[in-house]
Amino acid sequence: MAIDLAFDREHIWHPYTSLKNPLPVYPVVRAEGCRLYLEDGRSLIDGTSSWWSAVHGYNHPELNAAVTTQLANMSHVMFGGIVHQPAVDLAKLLLSMVPTGLNKVFFADSGSIAVEVALKMALQYWLSKGVPEKSRILSLSKAYHGDTFAAMAVCDPDDGMHTLFRSQLTPHLFAPAPQSRFDGAWQEEDGQKLRQLFEQHHPTLAAMIIEPVLQGAGGMRMYHPQYLNVCRALCDEFNVLLICDEIATGFGRTGKLFACEHAAISPDILCLGKALSGGYITLAATLCTDKVADGIAGALMHGPTYMANPLACSVAVASLKLIAQNRWQQQVQCIEQQLNTELAPARLLAQVADVRVLGAVGVVEMTGNVDVALCQRLFVELGVWVRPFGKLLYLMPPFVISSSELTALTQAIVKVCQQPILTTQAPLPGA
Ligand SMILES: *Cc1c(COP(=O)(O)O)cnc(C)c1O
Repeated sequence: MAIDLAFDREHIWHPYTSLKNPLPVYPVVRAEGCRLYLEDGRSLIDGTSSWWSAVHGYNHPELNAAVTTQLANMSHVMFGGIVHQPAVDLAKLLLSMVPTGLNKVFFADSGSIAVEVALKMALQYWLSKGVPEKSRILSLSKAYHGDTFAAMAVCDPDDGMHTLFRSQLTPHLFAPAPQSRFDGAWQEEDGQKLRQLFEQHHPTLAAMIIEPVLQGAGGMRMYHPQYLNVCRALCDEFNVLLICDEIATGFGRTGKLFACEHAAISPDILCLGKALSGGYITLAATLCTDKVADGIAGALMHGPTYMANPLACSVAVASLKLIAQNRWQQQVQCIEQQLNTELAPARLLAQVADVRVLGAVGVVEMTGNVDVALCQRLFVELGVWVRPFGKLLYLMPPFVISSSELTALTQAIVKVCQQPILTTQAPLPGA
């Protein structure tokens, strides 16, 4: 039976869409390797890893086996007062991989919740220390940290996707997004501006939150790793906790296992999600140091119903074991080289403002906002799945993509960015 598109259109919300004026959706019936199969029999090469999560591709035999084995045993059990093997295995693996100093794990059910938990950790830490005035968070313009209210409050306040709710959000402090490019020279001014904010506001600052090296859904900006060294040093100097949100960048995407490693720093609190479970089941985690955990007097006040879901933990263990085999390094390196070579021709095009590549992330920034529905149709006609947002056409393919599949993606991008795809309509938010 065909998927009831009319019913979907009438009744079901999709991410960041209107039910009054829904955008077209494409019925997918199967996914395997790096391909999505449409109901009409066509297949699309996936350039998004389903929002950056399916790094090993779809329908992976080892990940499937992890889920089915666990399913036969126990799909879920509450985590209050109970522990199980998948949670312990996953925590051990995670702690063996993450930057040094991180030693405690909180399992959350989505990236946004991992950010909520990170903020709670920071706030509870200073409350426990008897410094309740340290209650504000320093974030960056162009930041994106999720869709729940506390997470929204640390997203870009001006042109992020949550400006509608501004009056309901805790007013935090924002530093200008760093201007030093990842592939350019370090500009001292970036650090000086940040120092001024620390000097002025540190008595009220609980933590700084930052997406290391790559600001993702807020604009796919790749900035200089030296900025992270400055953040770490200022947080230490002024007694502010450093939260790194590696939900998008974790597990190899930027060419290092964690993007923090580009600057050899370690945060006090780390948020992980997206690729954590290989794109199978929603799962995220907030990790912290002994200092933070020991500093929190009493209970950390969070505990979701599906905390540490055994199916999700099992598939995450299988996914991390694949990562630990370290093939991702070679894969991401090859993807980076190929993206650099094959997206370069787009630089010469009139509608293109910038082309940038970091690890397995390739971005073509247009001079204006693009018509998402139109682009999506053009991409599907070319046999690829790419989901633009704002001014950006970008690729974050599964690490296992073949060189010919990747070429199909880059050629599609270079073709589509020459079409009349710019729109004067307000951008559709959402990566
Ligand atoms: C996607 C993302 C989030 C939110 O994760 P969800 O699982 O969608 O709630 C938070 N921070 C960053 C950097 C992200 O890329």
